[in-house]
Amino acid sequence: MSSIASLAQMRPETAVAAICPSFGLTTIRTLKRGQYRPLVLAALLVGLCQTGQAQEAQRASPSTPSGGAVTLFQNVRIFDGKSSTLSGPRNVLVRGSQIERISTGPIPTDRSATTVLIDGGGRTLMPGLIDMHWHTMMVRPTPAELLTGDIGHLNLAAGAEATDTLMRGFTTVRDMGGPAFGLKRAIDEGTVVGPRIFPSGAIITVTSGHGDFRQPFELPRTLGAPQSRGELTGAAMIADSPDEVRVRVREQLLQGASQIKLTAGGGVASPHSPLDASTFTEAELRAAVEAAENWGTYVAVHAYTPVSIQRAIAAGVKCIEHGHLMDEATAKLIADKGIWLSAQAFPQELGNAFPPGSLERAKFMEVFAGTDKTYALAKKYRIKTAFGTDVLFSRALAQRHGQLLTMLTRWYTPAEVLVMVTGTNAELLSLSGKRNPYPGRLGVVEEGALADLLLVDGDPIANIRLVEDPEKNLLVIMKGGKIYKNALRK
Ligand SMILES: [Zn+2]
Repeated sequence: MSSIASLAQMRPETAVAAICPSFGLTTIRTLKRGQYRPLVLAALLVGLCQTGQAQEAQRASPSTPSGGAVTLFQNVRIFDGKSSTLSGPRNVLVRGSQIERISTGPIPTDRSATTVLIDGGGRTLMPGLIDMHWHTMMVRPTPAELLTGDIGHLNLAAGAEATDTLMRGFTTVRDMGGPAFGLKRAIDEGTVVGPRIFPSGAIITVTSGHGDFRQPFELPRTLGAPQSRGELTGAAMIADSPDEVRVRVREQLLQGASQIKLTAGGGVASPHSPLDASTFTEAELRAAVEAAENWGTYVAVHAYTPVSIQRAIAAGVKCIEHGHLMDEATAKLIADKGIWLSAQAFPQELGNAFPPGSLERAKFMEVFAGTDKTYALAKKYRIKTAFGTDVLFSRALAQRHGQLLTMLTRWYTPAEVLVMVTGTNAELLSLSGKRNPYPGRLGVVEEGALADLLLVDGDPIANIRLVEDPEKNLLVIMKGGKIYKNALRK
């Protein structure tokens, strides 16, 4: 069966991934400057239609300096992104994009028309949620649409999904592959409503590796030959030597990548890569690490097996994505070296995305079976563990974003889960150093931190399932001091 045919059979409602594919996608990179403006205008129109539920109380732009809009949260209890308990009653003043003051006593304001007062009524104020393994451009399309679809349509769908993502309380995502640079720019400009995006740009892989979705008839690749569809769109780039890796890494950095993503081993949805395969050589991985570190940032790799994980660590990689097939010795190595594990608790139903009896389905089940052991090892060795979902090809699953988070209570306490999805995830984001596109502290509620805040109707530590129904339970959603939803506004 051809890879496109088998991908087209996937059920979009359930497809996700242990997977991390990288296919044909949309990119503004292929458009000339003059052609970009109409696309953005169209995105604006669609974005506005999608924000019916986003009640904007202020018109501050994301770059509003302090001295801009002012919001005062009164009588809130704070989950600060680090502690396992809520604070007592507090008042929190947000000015411009930052939290200016947190106080047990009253905070005076000028009570001008531009000051928004929010009576928290003893509810919980917490940091916005962070998803460390997201594919901004790949949530809504089916695999076939991604490979063959119209670029404008894919961009607009991604913009609408970005709005939904923010309205689920996810104020930041780390994009682990796909041409998200244009969408990120549109969000930062205020053209489209969405989360902060830490983009990786194209996934970098090898010939036959996870993310190489070419057909056999497209081989052999010769120097100077036209690029494949996935490469043209900026979804995935193929590199088969240290020199090629350096070029591909630097191309992503040129476009604004905040970190680099390589696939160090086989993947579930890839037609040509067995799960046990290791792809890049250590020299190739090291070339990527050198290029990224010269630019002040780091490399994260898709890897399941002990060999692929250990080789990546030897080459200087700082973050392992997935890791579901790791063994005890590898877990100890990850811990000893202070490497990050960005793991996912995939729901079993995701296997239904692949036809019964297919190789992809068998690969998924193998990965899924490793989930429990991976989290057990992560806890045993106190591995620095981040939370991400890796939702692909499923708007329906994306709508259960909060549920993918609360699944972690199988291994962690609710407080541990909430710390992981806020303060801990933000620690991993900070590895981007000066390539962090959003300088400032994220994932915490502290004076001076960026004001990405959620007002929760209840105590999420006592009942973490509140995050599963954001429309009902997230009363206020703020990003960078700007209110995108305020259900308390009369
Ligand atoms: Zn992925």
